[in-house]
Amino acid sequence: MDINLPAAKADMLHRQLEDRGIHDPRVLAAMAKVPRERFLAERQRGEAYADRAVPIDCGQTISQPYIVGLMTQALRLSGSETVLEVGTGSGYQAAVLAELAREVISIERHPPLSAQAAARLAALEYRNVTLVVGDGTLGWAARAPYDRIIVAAMAAEVPSPLFAQLVEGGILVIPIGDRDCQILQAVGKVHGAPQVTELSACRFVPLVGAEGWSEDGLSHGRPDA
Ligand code: SAH
Repeated sequence: MDINLPAAKADMLHRQLEDRGIHDPRVLAAMAKVPRERFLAERQRGEAYADRAVPIDCGQTISQPYIVGLMTQALRLSGSETVLEVGTGSGYQAAVLAELAREVISIERHPPLSAQAAARLAALEYRNVTLVVGDGTLGWAARAPYDRIIVAAMAAEVPSPLFAQLVEGGILVIPIGDRDCQILQAVGKVHGAPQVTELSACRFVPLVGAEGWSEDGLSHGRPDA
């Protein structure tokens, strides 16, 4: 079945984003501009604007459009910021951020996903995105501090290196919880301390790393800290 992608995209913008409270005009314009289908395998392109997460390689997912909109809106980007993304995945969220911020550094632990995202972002001529392969629970000290940090995978608590690499007055958005129950949080840094706003229930893949979950998902870094 052929899907009419422009119509599906218009529907996503109205029903999935605007009708559910995504009203930042810059976020809506960025999501109207970025071709989400280009971040999926050929055979999945018909699902690009579906109201759900879609599987990608390495057992990961591209986040649901609404969640991308919600997280991006919570970052309150004006265009001048340097943003760290943890979990490049397909590269779609990085492209949306590239439309809205000055510079995006995105880190991914699976090299094949990072390579695929790099090719897609280059084909779309994004020049303000730097992709890094590594453990994003440790942040990326080489370019710190960051005005904004967005974590696209779920942790039991905010990894302390990430909060340390956030500027005063900065915002970090992250799903916090466990496999069954997660809440998307916007964490501001106010006088050096976290100020948490809860955004929505959500469901993300685990953040796996030194300050996140173990590979088997049974333990989490710094459980008693
Ligand atoms: N933002 C992505 C969504 C990716 S899903 C998109 O738009 O498609 C979350 C990603 O986080 C997965 O690709 C997963 O491999 C990655 N991830 C999990 N733990 C990580 C870590 N410690 N460092 C970097 N990436 C990690």
